Amino acid sequence: MKEREALLKRAAEHTIRYLENVDQRPVRASATSQELYERLSDAFRQGGEDPSSVIDAIAEAAKNGTAATQGGRFFGFVVGGSLPVSTATDWLVSGWDQNAAIYVLSPLAAVIERIAAEWILQITGLPATWSVGYVTGGSMANFTSLAAARRHALAEEGWDVEADGLFGAPPIDVVVSEEAHYTIRTSLRMLGLGGERVRRIAVDAQGRMRPDALADALRDTSGPCIVCTQIGNVNTGAFDPIDEIADVTAERGAWLHVDGAFGLWASGSSSYKHLVRGIERADSVATDAHKWLNVPYDCGIVLCAHPESHRGAMTLAAAYIEDTPLERDPRGFTPEESRRARAVPVYAVLRTLGPSGLADLIERCCRHARRFAEALEGAGHEILNDVVLNQVLVSFGDADTTRRVISAIQSDGTCWCGGTKWKGRAAMRISVSSWATTDDDVELSIEAMLRAATSTSESNP
Ligand SMILES: *Cc1c(COP(=O)(O)O)cnc(C)c1O
Repeated sequence: MKEREALLKRAAEHTIRYLENVDQRPVRASATSQELYERLSDAFRQGGEDPSSVIDAIAEAAKNGTAATQGGRFFGFVVGGSLPVSTATDWLVSGWDQNAAIYVLSPLAAVIERIAAEWILQITGLPATWSVGYVTGGSMANFTSLAAARRHALAEEGWDVEADGLFGAPPIDVVVSEEAHYTIRTSLRMLGLGGERVRRIAVDAQGRMRPDALADALRDTSGPCIVCTQIGNVNTGAFDPIDEIADVTAERGAWLHVDGAFGLWASGSSSYKHLVRGIERADSVATDAHKWLNVPYDCGIVLCAHPESHRGAMTLAAAYIEDTPLERDPRGFTPEESRRARAVPVYAVLRTLGPSGLADLIERCCRHARRFAEALEGAGHEILNDVVLNQVLVSFGDADTTRRVISAIQSDGTCWCGGTKWKGRAAMRISVSSWATTDDDVELSIEAMLRAATSTSESNP
């Protein structure tokens, strides 16, 4: 008992020190894989090792073997940090080690899932009748949504895909935007719908699906149809016009899926809510809590307008599992069975922030993004997107120069941004999605970016 307490306190102490130091160290991970491997690999011995020294070794390696995504100056990908209350409640989750799949195994996890789901439906303006499942991330939220869509669309044709599979089934037209996130393709592959067997719909200059192009494409389809849209383009942050698209899909009788991995959270702010207009007309929505809601990995959420199709696509009976009548068995809404109680940090963050705190988080990140764009543009660099949300794309000149500036920024270590390609052009992508980013972080990062741009152009006039 004493040892357990000592180990838990030791891990907590390491975590607290790690977080204390996260804004003082280089944002990039500075250790090489070789260093990390050599430090950690030669340690599997007969008789094992004292657990406190194992904890120490791992914690020591984390100091330079991790990117400082928990700090205020990490702007790579779209990852977000985790709010202190979410990290703390995630420790509770690990401590309890509850299997959140089945009500009787963890009534608390099941009830917290339900309450957090109700709150998310309120925030997003989705009907309270929608079903909600907690999965590992946006990828599995897309997968689960499309599994529900597949079941629903084929059931309308009298085909039971869960029992009979896809061989001989009526063909489904799958329609995606040219800018669909690649995980939509992963999901389509896993569902047997084919990653490339899709109709791709043209987008506008910001990457939004064009409703007129969608209407044209749907005109020569008939039978089951699934349309995949997105709110929050990973490059530009742009939102497909869901309300207009819903007019088209409603007329066609197609399933409307919305990938809102980070964009859905814009609905938490009255200033940005208009971007998701029409979302309640969708059939399924996927989102991530581990991105902009700032809970720890891993936590995605699937929301579905058709609970019976959602549940039907996910639930399998087993002789030794009896679902609890009148209770919500969490396993009914996810592909996994055993899993952690990942809704607990979601609940904790929403309860801590409240609606106004959530709005503030969203608006703060968007304000920081605008500041980045204004400062970089002011210094003569080109901003490639309309900064409608938390994403900024910047070009520092030709592709080679832009790449070298990105690399200089990363090795400087003040902040971290990654590269991307937008409309054929190399760009640096700034994503502001962490609660931890302050005005000072933004100014320090801007200085570092401008410094890197200047030294790059001076070294190669
Ligand atoms: C991040 C993201 C995903 C994938 O989510 P994971 O949590 O990484 O699985 C899907 N779609 C969009 C738009 C995203 O931004």
